[in-house]
Amino acid sequence: MGKKEFIPEKVPVRKRESGERAGDFDEVVLGYCVEEARREAARCLGCKKRPCVAGCPVRIDIPGFALAIAGGDIEGAVARIKEENLLPGVCGRVCPQEKQCEQLCILGRKGDPLDIGKLERFAADWEAEAGSLEVPKPAGESGLSVAVVGSGPAGLTAAGELVKMGHAVTVFEALHVAGGVLTYGIPEFRLPQWVVDSEVSLLERMGVEMVLDFVVGRTATLDDLRKGHDAVFIGIGAGLPSFMGIPGENLNGVYSANEFLTRSNLMRARSFPEYDTPVKRTGKTVVVGGGNVAMDSARTALRMGADEVHIVYRRSRVEMPARVEEVDHGEEEGIIFHMLTNPVEVLGTDGRCVGMTCQRMELGEPDESGRRRPVPVEGDYFNVDADVMVMAIGTRANPLLTSTAEGLKLNRWGYIEALSDTGETSLPGVYAGGDIVTGTATVIEAMGTGKTAAAAINVYLNSGVSAL
Ligand code: FAD
Ligand code: SF4
Repeated sequence: MGKKEFIPEKVPVRKRESGERAGDFDEVVLGYCVEEARREAARCLGCKKRPCVAGCPVRIDIPGFALAIAGGDIEGAVARIKEENLLPGVCGRVCPQEKQCEQLCILGRKGDPLDIGKLERFAADWEAEAGSLEVPKPAGESGLSVAVVGSGPAGLTAAGELVKMGHAVTVFEALHVAGGVLTYGIPEFRLPQWVVDSEVSLLERMGVEMVLDFVVGRTATLDDLRKGHDAVFIGIGAGLPSFMGIPGENLNGVYSANEFLTRSNLMRARSFPEYDTPVKRTGKTVVVGGGNVAMDSARTALRMGADEVHIVYRRSRVEMPARVEEVDHGEEEGIIFHMLTNPVEVLGTDGRCVGMTCQRMELGEPDESGRRRPVPVEGDYFNVDADVMVMAIGTRANPLLTSTAEGLKLNRWGYIEALSDTGETSLPGVYAGGDIVTGTATVIEAMGTGKTAAAAINVYLNSGVSAL
């Protein structure tokens, strides 16, 4: 094969106009059509060393599926992806590819990297539209069973892998819908619910049983699950909201991002007045934070009818952990950013939030995360009006399960201690992964830990020591 032509620019992806999309919850990015996807995929050089694959936590055969799309074999591309990833429609939409596979793509040295995420999404959507979702065949039945706690990306991935290996898998989920953050956190304009539902339904058709409204630690204990199964995987996420600990945070009109997004997504506040979930929609909303959660809260507030939406972040734009694409989309939609700004008090009248006092910050030396540390500027305070405040400054481990699980070792922040190469915890036959082990991370990282643990559980089950 001769040397491939180097095409520096990626095929732009179609998206809705900012003015139109900021008024509804329909998806912003429209994705590639077949012709666009084939053109973009054809840019892949098919490098021998495949650096992109090493950047993907679940090791998808990226050049394999890209070159299949380029050749018009979309079905083949889907099959390649699904060997490693059963949630491609989700990952193609929400993975921070620019920090993972795409960052390592050779094309990125002199031009745009291959748009791997949009190609993955294209393949997944093509399959969903064709209605010919291939159900991967499980290996022969092992006669052994695994309980998976939590149906977020970590739990769903562990469940899918284990059922493929021939084990009977039951997922126990606290909420009335499966998907974890994919369902209650990430809004429809970034990840439509039909994508999550169709990928969860594929797992069910592969044989995974979903038990909803089942809170481990309340409905049953971890010990009960251990007695009824040969192994357990815990993927309960870290969804307990953090607050800043500043005066006035309990005033009416101050929400945690978790509550704000759950009310909008799961309890349908966004479909008011059809659903009468209380959440304040009008006036000026100020969101505190710089991650994906802050961006999702701000863009949700805008779509629910806020007159103005502001983001207040204590570092600068460069340090914002949100996906670059989402920050750009938020800016296009009219979100106003205030960098190097930190609230120190929420101001109230008659029990309601009316604003906040902020302190100006400057950047100091890098901290342990490698990002420059925000340092308060002495005496530099100012007030900002706000009818609604959303705190999107991170989440913590929820102790509901762990506090009732005797012998399960936790670190000092309440996260489960698990070996990184197997997911093994301090209890025999009990494995863990996702945010409850790593702290808040990404969808694909949670999936990577689910996959690693599934492989280790399989070894454990096959070793014959599995009667818990
Ligand atoms: P989760 O997704 O939190 O799922 C845990 C599940 O366990 C939940 O369904 C929960 O109800 C259930 N559960 C909890 N306790 C119990 C119990 N005791 N019994 C039974 N079930 C229980 N990452 C990205 O890569 N890209 C993004 O764009 C992105 N955007 C995000 C936006 C928001 C608003 C949020 C909150 C996070 C975002 N993330 C993003 C991070 C990503 O979603 C998480 O890292 C990932 O979902 C973690 O997966 P998980 O399976 O560990 O946990
Ligand atoms: Fe293709 Fe980029 Fe991977 Fe090379 S690094 S194989 S160009 S996707």
